[in-house]
Amino acid sequence: MPQVLAPYAADPAATRGRRHPEPSPQGRTEFQRDRDRIIHSNAFRRLEYKTQVFVNHEGDLFRTRLTHSLEVAQIARSVARNLGLNEDLVEAISLAHDLGHTPFGHAGQDELNACMREFAPGSGGFEHNLQSLRVVDELEERYGDFNGLNLCFETREGILKHCSLSRAAQLGDVGERFLNRTQPSLEAQLTNLSDEIAYNNHDIDDGLRSGLITLEQMRQVKIFDRHYAEVVARYPGLAERRAITETVRRMINTLIIDLTETTAARIAEHKPASIDDVRQAPPLVGFSAEIRAEADELKQFLRDNLYRHYRVLRMTTKAKRILRDLFKAFLDDPRLLPPQYQSRASVDQARAIADYIAGMTDRYAIKEHRRLFLVNDE
Ligand code: MG
Repeated sequence: MPQVLAPYAADPAATRGRRHPEPSPQGRTEFQRDRDRIIHSNAFRRLEYKTQVFVNHEGDLFRTRLTHSLEVAQIARSVARNLGLNEDLVEAISLAHDLGHTPFGHAGQDELNACMREFAPGSGGFEHNLQSLRVVDELEERYGDFNGLNLCFETREGILKHCSLSRAAQLGDVGERFLNRTQPSLEAQLTNLSDEIAYNNHDIDDGLRSGLITLEQMRQVKIFDRHYAEVVARYPGLAERRAITETVRRMINTLIIDLTETTAARIAEHKPASIDDVRQAPPLVGFSAEIRAEADELKQFLRDNLYRHYRVLRMTTKAKRILRDLFKAFLDDPRLLPPQYQSRASVDQARAIADYIAGMTDRYAIKEHRRLFLVNDE
């Protein structure tokens, strides 16, 4: 049965369209087609071998960007269904939101940004949101009629979560909202917060599993402690690992319910009658003030104790060195690039190098570094 959409939802039949006009799809909606194209892309498959916090080869149970993206889609779809929003669109945005991520997580993005600024001044640096858009607009080469995946405006708008004003001015339709200070669709707003719910909770789970953070430390964080206490009271003697996953499950549930209820109340207050009304309204998707404060405390905790843990920093320092070496080597001699990137490099060398490096998986970057710098390798 087709989903009944609320009047403020994104309607695929009323999409603002694709960059290259195409006939409507048969047997599926425009946003389903976007979701399908994303799943079939090369960049999507590479997410399996890209890091979230832990480098891919550190253990088989840790999240990768692929499983993270699936978790985001699951959360976003649940809330979308309850609010009458477009599930296909939130799924498409969720699955595409990290396509432009470099290898080695945020460390990789920071280093590539630094390289682009330092070695290619005026390049505009490197930003993973913009790169996700670049992947779907330009870099995927699969279809006869166009470069990229030629996705709908609404999917592209959701992928571009933030953007500087100077870049926004160069981006045409998807850049406009940053210049006009208007909001994106509710589907885009929802996916953004679903991303936050997903990573905060799976980073707790992965952080505890890795031993980098302890249960005692986690219990200093209000939202965790509150749910953990409930679990221990309800299931005395439950094995620790199971108590942790049960706690995380309850936290995700609390966050989803709060997000749904708070957003429903804001929608009732502002009464948007269409997606155009949503664009003119203040941000409508959000948490209550109490839950927002608790989620912020958790984020700060993870930043201080997990992302800046010395063992994580050792890995990220190595990762940064690898990307910097690669960038410098290709800049010094673009003939070292694979042929398809050499032809791009003749137009904009630094950008072609950034595209090549950003597309690498963690293990590919490590291998490529070995191939370029180790005399006795392969
Ligand atoms: Mg994400």
